[in-house]
Amino acid sequence: MDNTSNHNNPRSNSETHHRESEEQRADRLKLESRLKDIHKKIVVLSGKGGVGKSTIAVNLAVSLTMKGRKVGLLDIDIHGPSVPTLLGIEKAKLQGTEGEILPVDWQGMKVLSMGFFLNDPDTAVIWRGPLKMGAIKQFLRDAAWGELDFLIVDSPPGTGDEPLSVFQLLGKVDGAVVVTTPQKIAAIDVRKSISFCRQLGVPVLGVVENMSGFACPKCGEVTHILNSGGGRQIAEDMRVPFLGSIPIDPKIAESGDQGLAFVNEYVSSATAKILQEIIKPIEAL
Ligand code: ADP
Repeated sequence: MDNTSNHNNPRSNSETHHRESEEQRADRLKLESRLKDIHKKIVVLSGKGGVGKSTIAVNLAVSLTMKGRKVGLLDIDIHGPSVPTLLGIEKAKLQGTEGEILPVDWQGMKVLSMGFFLNDPDTAVIWRGPLKMGAIKQFLRDAAWGELDFLIVDSPPGTGDEPLSVFQLLGKVDGAVVVTTPQKIAAIDVRKSISFCRQLGVPVLGVVENMSGFACPKCGEVTHILNSGGGRQIAEDMRVPFLGSIPIDPKIAESGDQGLAFVNEYVSSATAKILQEIIKPIEAL
């Protein structure tokens, strides 16, 4: 069995902090108070970049918003914060007083992205480890979400220090959605992501297989041009639910490029219906 550590247990969390400095304590209390009115925190993660993690995170968050839920979307992917582009809000200016960051409103959904701090989208972020962790921490500590039914977090990919800090700082995480592509090479990383969640005591809501087959732009029929089913197989092997397969759909890429949320634009398409199914276990939390 996997070792279950204390990161997801708020009580043990404060116990392990008994040797913290005054400053660390103040930071932790501020963070706890910032997150206290968020009912459920869901992290979307992937073994590697480019599998559509941000696209899925955005469309799950928008689907929940369309159902009338109070949703926050936090893009904490420090190297590739793509949520502002996917929602067409790259130019949004963050408001807030000293020590407070107010999320940007997108049709009633609250959005915060590391991308809002990186003025020039062409500049690569080259931050050394501790600075990076400090930025993630400060970002979470100062974000003023208010009351939310769900906070959907677009995590940095992989299972390294960055996603680890995100999980630790969030405190109790209610569920993780793991995104993969059907190929074997991606599958290996998914296993790591699932055991990473288990080690942190975070329930895995399930696996989403993205870019699985090709959806014809004319009739919507899905053709399996490459192997598919890898995501379902891993879900079975690792005994976690399989949440659904999303085809390569030119309308997803097009909506993303135009900064329009796909599920909002093509609400009755077959692909949007799959995304609307995937939120069911989140809604049921
Ligand atoms: P990640 O967050 O994993 O790095 P993104 O969500 O940024 O990946 O997606 C990478 C690119 O692939 C984006 O241009 C996005 O529009 C496109 N994309 C993602 N999923 C699909 C899909 N199912 N069909 C078509 N294009 C997709």
